Amino acid sequence: MTTIRVGHLYPEYLNIYADRGNIAVLTRRAALRGHDLVVEGVSIGDALEPGSHDLLYVGGGQDREQELISADLAGRADAIRDAVDGGAALLAVCGGYQLLGRGYRERSGELLRGIGLFPHETVAGERRMIGDVLLDCAWAGRTVAGFENHAGRTRLDPGAEPLGRVVAGFGNDGESGHEGCRVGRAVGTYLHGPLLPRNPWLGDWLLAQALGHATGGDAQELEPLDDDLEAAAHDVSARRARERGGRF
Ligand code: GLN
Repeated sequence: MTTIRVGHLYPEYLNIYADRGNIAVLTRRAALRGHDLVVEGVSIGDALEPGSHDLLYVGGGQDREQELISADLAGRADAIRDAVDGGAALLAVCGGYQLLGRGYRERSGELLRGIGLFPHETVAGERRMIGDVLLDCAWAGRTVAGFENHAGRTRLDPGAEPLGRVVAGFGNDGESGHEGCRVGRAVGTYLHGPLLPRNPWLGDWLLAQALGHATGGDAQELEPLDDDLEAAAHDVSARRARERGGRF
């Protein structure tokens, strides 16, 4: 039994579409393998002790919530980048994903400074990108299905690794064919919904990395679970994306 320590950043601000459901999936899937997930909320003004988390999680939020937390988050830039450099896993969704890049320019022109973990920049466009999404994650030999709703267009730097290639839907910016970003054991994505119930392989990938951090070694193999229901949910989502995924 290993205790996996999770730092949940700004849980009361960034939880659009019940993004905290991703934590519920991680907790359950860890427990089914005999591991204990301990979740600590880290919000405005709270200490973030170096090395104290195996996995960091940040959900999505609208511009207003992003404005409320962005100064505090910017003050944690070194701590979060050091955590990922040190092998901690990280999952960031939508509004959180945007602010873990270099910054997000709102429609008003205001720039919310990010922390520069992900090599990208985001600028709000006029039309929101809303709809079901399907991704091909060739690096894992898997697909990811989900739902997106964002005004921000995120441009990855040349050579940056996306989470996946867009099969259907908008993705980062509606034109590059990229969705999300990966750096080390960190994954950022626009997919809400939450993401992990219908893409449990990604939850297991994150848990495997977090276990590696917790035990001071490589990512750990996890025994497979019976994921029939999850696979059915994924397939419904994937079909919806193929039939009516967003496009301009
Ligand atoms: N405010 C951001 C956007 O609209 C993020 C929205 C979200 O988290 N759904 O681009």
